[in-house]
Amino acid sequence: DLAPLRRALLSVSDKTGLVELGQALAARGVELLSTGGTAKALRDAGLNVRDVADVTGFPEMMDGRVKTLHPVVHGGLLALRDNDDHQAAMEAHQISPIDLVVVNLYPFEAALAKGAAYAEMIENIDIGGPAMIRSAAKNHGFVTVVVDVEDYAAVLAELETHGGQTTYALRQRLAQTAYARTAAYDTAVGTWMAGEVGQPPRRRTFGGALAQSLRYGENPHQAAAFYTDGSNRPGVATATQHQGKELSYNNINDTDAAFELVSEFDPAQGPACAIIKHANPCGVARGKTLKEAYGRAFDCDRTSAFGGIIALNQPLDAATAEEISGIFTEVVIAPGAEEAARDIFGAKKNLRLLTTDGLADPEVAALAVRQVSGGYLVQDKDIGRITVDDLKVVTKRAPSEQEMADLLFAWTVAKHVKSNAIIYVKDGATVGVGAGQMSRVDSTRIAARKAQDMADAMGLPAPLTQGSVVASDAFFPFADGLITAAEAGATALIQPGGSMRDDEVIAAADDAGLAMVFTGMRHFRH
Ligand code: 5GP
Repeated sequence: DLAPLRRALLSVSDKTGLVELGQALAARGVELLSTGGTAKALRDAGLNVRDVADVTGFPEMMDGRVKTLHPVVHGGLLALRDNDDHQAAMEAHQISPIDLVVVNLYPFEAALAKGAAYAEMIENIDIGGPAMIRSAAKNHGFVTVVVDVEDYAAVLAELETHGGQTTYALRQRLAQTAYARTAAYDTAVGTWMAGEVGQPPRRRTFGGALAQSLRYGENPHQAAAFYTDGSNRPGVATATQHQGKELSYNNINDTDAAFELVSEFDPAQGPACAIIKHANPCGVARGKTLKEAYGRAFDCDRTSAFGGIIALNQPLDAATAEEISGIFTEVVIAPGAEEAARDIFGAKKNLRLLTTDGLADPEVAALAVRQVSGGYLVQDKDIGRITVDDLKVVTKRAPSEQEMADLLFAWTVAKHVKSNAIIYVKDGATVGVGAGQMSRVDSTRIAARKAQDMADAMGLPAPLTQGSVVASDAFFPFADGLITAAEAGATALIQPGGSMRDDEVIAAADDAGLAMVFTGMRHFRH
């Protein structure tokens, strides 16, 4: 058991809760040491504070670049209290122990968020703060380190219940938090600089703050947690959950896929809905109303839509909520929800409703990270988009206006489907999705067969692939996939082109009277 805590060093940029903390410590007879601004804030509240400059014998200098970087401070933090040599060194150099360090850092991340200029970013790189945090955390056997305002209460609570000291368990937890904080801080600095340097950096790290511990990962034997990246963008990480049980790992993954996909569809051009199962869409549609968009997405594959995740590009209204309530759905995510819609969902206890502050920006650059044995693969997120002007008509027949609109719609969906991806679309709605197959022709067949199944189930005379258009996320290596699509009733195709056998594929398209356009862009998604 440690003797009661006697000296604390407080040096914080974010002064939230500082005075209350200082008062509580002072009330316990703890001596307060502080740097310039922090000392002033404490003194203004009537507290007795000693300046670190007074302890070190050096003034704060160089615009604050050097304040606490001194052996009297770091010796007081790092000395082992149960080591005679360390104690002797403290005595010889008149170093007093510091038992508690409360530091939060220069607001580098905030400066980044507001787009500060280079020189200001540099001045916002804290040096002495992280040094103290790391010293104190290393010596967590004896020293308590606090980097988050949220942890002030836990420390004060233990001082109350544990004779003026903290427990080892708390100090260890706080030390872990401290190192994660300094790591994230330097990651923010390093990532910002990587952008300034403009080359793939030689080293790269990934920061993150815990948003939620998850019950388990993709499977029950896998531990898992959910981290935010601090960007605060609209999405599943920042959404508000209104009802239903906690999201699972798979829910979060699928909800993200749904939201990213539906965010491709500008609400100014009308309502859209995406239904996702296992990270692949089983229906995506536009509609004159949101309810119609949902209904048309649902009709693509009613079987798979059961237990699906639904994303909408406009706030959920009552009519759509009523319609969605018809079958079991895991999650609905939308940029808002009318009160009447929330009331309708209120009766469905298992349905989670998430609302966001707008849609995701499909053009915002981001990093995509994947773990491989012994490393990480890092790439730019696929934010590639095309317009009519990017397309090259390669067949004798050019697509009609309606075909062209559907081709672009199908292409947008294809970007969000696991490869090999084949998407049949008619009148702004998917009517067949072939995903994740190892051969392109299989994806083409599966999507057509599912459309036939739907037609049978709905009592339609012909599958909806009749008169549809088709998107392929990568080129057709042979004509067989294209011929399969034509047999299913497709009249136009969109694909990157670039196969050795493009001539063969184009000839087959012409033979079948199809219109085909090349994008010159691929959307692999593995
Ligand atoms: P204050 O507002 O008390 O003047 O400054 C508090 C800030 O200074 C804290 O964010 C703390 O991390 C930082 N800080 C403390 N010591 C040093 C130092 O020696 N160098 C630098 N650059 N920052 C320090």
